[in-house]
Amino acid sequence: MDKAVSPPFNAKLMCSVCKKTAATFNLIKGIEGEKLLYDGICGQALFASDPRLVRALQANDVMKAHHLMNRGIDAYCPECEKSYCSTHYVVTQKRDADNCIERMDGTCPRGHKRRLDSTGEKPNIVAPFLNDDQ
Ligand SMILES: [Zn+2]
Ligand SMILES: [Zn+2]
Repeated sequence: MDKAVSPPFNAKLMCSVCKKTAATFNLIKGIEGEKLLYDGICGQALFASDPRLVRALQANDVMKAHHLMNRGIDAYCPECEKSYCSTHYVVTQKRDADNCIERMDGTCPRGHKRRLDSTGEKPNIVAPFLNDDQ
């Protein structure tokens, strides 16, 4: 049960409304080791793999995976404990005078609001860097 998961491994989060793919994780082997490629509703991010995160995904424990990532999973509403696709999780972007995205907020179909970015310095990309505190 504690066997390490090795590539290829992928996990899909389905929208709980329309059953379409909301977000995907792909474990890939690169020259610098194993990486996780995340493709969510705000964009893609590539980051170093963490066995705890992979195990949580393998066990379908999306909430745990959400909490293992610094900024969480953008397609996941922690209050509903459900995932939503980009159609059903409404993302609003606030832009500054230079047309750069200042912040992004997501609203799930049940009206729960959550901030999806943390600094706003990387437009279109949510970089869910792993949270080492846990
Ligand atoms: Zn949907
Ligand atoms: Zn919700």
